[in-house]
Amino acid sequence: MNIRENLEEVERRITAAAERSGRKRSDITLIAVTKTHPAEMMNEAIELGVTDIGENKPQEVRDKYADVKPVRWHLIGHLQTNKVKYVIDKVCLIHSVDSVKLMDEIERQAEKHDTTMDILIQVNISGEETKSGIKPEEIYDLIEHAGELSRVKVKGLMTIAPKTDNPVTNALHFDNIRRLFLDIQSKKYDNISMEYLSMGMSGDYETAIEHGANMVRVGSAIFGQRDYSTK
Ligand SMILES: *Cc1c(COP(=O)(O)O)cnc(C)c1O
Repeated sequence: MNIRENLEEVERRITAAAERSGRKRSDITLIAVTKTHPAEMMNEAIELGVTDIGENKPQEVRDKYADVKPVRWHLIGHLQTNKVKYVIDKVCLIHSVDSVKLMDEIERQAEKHDTTMDILIQVNISGEETKSGIKPEEIYDLIEHAGELSRVKVKGLMTIAPKTDNPVTNALHFDNIRRLFLDIQSKKYDNISMEYLSMGMSGDYETAIEHGANMVRVGSAIFGQRDYSTK
């Protein structure tokens, strides 16, 4: 497993997919997903040019933060309200907001730290029971609630598409969330700016970019398979 070679390959594919969708490499943010991996591996990727990293557990952000070189941190996994405090002063974007309760806790913690927090609303676009995220029709409750907040800034949408061997099967899901994204964008709600569409993982990031993603979250294609056995 060679992080440099993997990263070069991912970069090449992102550039090609961006060009196929009429955009440039610089329009797409690559978030290197480092969950379960040690700080040394993260620092190697950062030295190779990675600017954004993603973790799915708030505890991992807290525990690795001091050992990792300066980089933008993203919280991409499920966040319980009692763990917001671990990440509020460390991450630049929380991708996984799916309830009013969580929004309110982020507002409260941001106030306490005298800061603001950019968030994405996580949408369950495929209707799979096991995936977190809100149903597309419930999104407007969160959008309206965000209009009453001053510290939480809604910057876009995130989704996790079903695992598949054929990424093209997720194109429909990506198109659906993109349509929702554009619809919300056109309505100009208070405190909502639809800037980021976070979708696509190792198996389907090229398809996601072709269907409108401007943030992709790529783990195993860069760092190899994760080992959960010691966790
Ligand atoms: C682990 C994870 C990823 C990256 O998954 P890979 O298939 O390894 O690229 C992306 N998004 C979320 C929310 C994750 O938890």
